Amino acid sequence: MRVDIITIFPDYLSPLELSLVGRARDRGIIDVHLHDLRQWASDVHRTVDDAPYGGGPGMVMRPEPWWAALTEVSESGAADGRRPRIIVPTPVGRPFTQGYAGGLAAEPWLVFCCGRYEGIDARVIEAWADDEISLGDYVLAGGEVATLVMVEAVTRLLPGVVGNAESVADDSFANGLLEPPVYTRPPVWHDREVPAVLRSGDHGAIIRWRREVALRRTAQRRPDLLAGTDPAGTDPAGRVAQ
Ligand code: SAM
Repeated sequence: MRVDIITIFPDYLSPLELSLVGRARDRGIIDVHLHDLRQWASDVHRTVDDAPYGGGPGMVMRPEPWWAALTEVSESGAADGRRPRIIVPTPVGRPFTQGYAGGLAAEPWLVFCCGRYEGIDARVIEAWADDEISLGDYVLAGGEVATLVMVEAVTRLLPGVVGNAESVADDSFANGLLEPPVYTRPPVWHDREVPAVLRSGDHGAIIRWRREVALRRTAQRRPDLLAGTDPAGTDPAGRVAQ
């Protein structure tokens, strides 16, 4: 999978060199390209923002550098007929979910556009974005952290990245439920005992116990999941409704 990230703070994405994503890059499973938006700014000061029409506080990211950046990045794969899926992290987007991450994991090429200030001029988003995606109901300073989260969640789902594929299949949300609690040795710790069934060696009983506890936990903590709705959807071809 190829991933391009356009940002005014490429250094902010340095965690993508570490741990699971870093190893996936080393092994050629994911090919990450960072781009500094300012290289597409035309003035001597490399300005990428301007005052908002209609007044109000803060600045808005100008359309010209974004348009030039997205044109050049998209055309860089045009030789082999590829077109990227373009994602704009934004608090006004659809919520990011495991189902949506699974859809992205099936795509060959993703482009993330990291907004700053009050966001990116809406005309860029209308013309270029396939998805506007929110990490949650809070406001971050920029799209970089949201992009880090999405790239890590998607990379985990790529074949060969997580050693035991079953562990991804058993994760929270993979089957619509929260994962049951997990334990390791010792069997008793500070008077707290690992449930006997997990030490019984009875695989059928263990599967039933895990299912029951996962259902109970999900009903208590996230009853919305049992309704079976995925607010971001899983259809990678679906564009965000305007
Ligand atoms: N004024 C905007 C609003 O109220 O919707 C918030 C702009 S925020 C300060 C700057 C950038 O951070 C956004 O353009 C977006 O890229 C990113 N961002 C902030 N919160 C986010 C969230 N919850 N999910 C995804 N991206 C977010």
